[in-house]
Amino acid sequence: MRKYFIAGNWKMNHSVSETVEFCRQFRVKGLKNISSDIVLFPPSISITSMVKILEDTPVKIGGQNMHKESNGAFTGEISSEMFVDSGCDYILIGHSERRQYFNETNELVNQKLKKALETKLKPVICIGEKLEEREAGKTEDVILKQLKKGLKDITEAEMGNIIIAYEPIWAIGTGLTAKPEQAQEIHGLIRNAIKNDYSEHLGKNLRILYGGSAKVQNAKSLLLEKDIDGLLIGGASLKVNDFYEIIQIAENLTNN
Ligand code: PEP
Repeated sequence: MRKYFIAGNWKMNHSVSETVEFCRQFRVKGLKNISSDIVLFPPSISITSMVKILEDTPVKIGGQNMHKESNGAFTGEISSEMFVDSGCDYILIGHSERRQYFNETNELVNQKLKKALETKLKPVICIGEKLEEREAGKTEDVILKQLKKGLKDITEAEMGNIIIAYEPIWAIGTGLTAKPEQAQEIHGLIRNAIKNDYSEHLGKNLRILYGGSAKVQNAKSLLLEKDIDGLLIGGASLKVNDFYEIIQIAENLTNN
């Protein structure tokens, strides 16, 4: 039985009160019997409210970004320990918007990853190529470099707690989705790289999510691909009906 991982990255969207309303409507739809892993990444200011409202449901909560240090004079930043204390289980690391607008490098991604693991926060590490890199035939090189540098010195045991999200940058927030076979090709590449660098067992069990304009209309075809274990959804996760419908698509694939 395939257990999918469906996650929603809200980015800087939904205020605290909008979050509370979303969670109320989400709960009413019925979350108890869901077998997929469901994670929401709201803006940090809404995390404690969300944790409270969804407390007795299987939905887990994550932060969208963290600092690599535990505390200190880093105005505006939040540490891994603080996310754990607020009730988070997951953290997004290296989202392309962080790389693009906040100059996050593979080296910084690696430092944050180590800190998250040390504090028992499960990292979802995002990798993906730009349009010009794809057009120049550099996709494989970019992905393999992001993996090599981002996962530097991460042990096999630690890898067991890491999820990888393949998010082609040209597909994020653009309405352009990678074709299922295009996504599958890169997911296969990632899985093989992990098999080679670690072990067959780890590669087989690694969860690799696809992100980039995933929505109700394309969720099924993406999830049917062999190496796509779930979705990281931006825009479509902001609408409770759409997000729930995508979860139902995953549930139906699991149960039928
Ligand atoms: C994302 O931000 O991770 C994302 C995939 O966004 P969207 O689904 O809106 O493209």
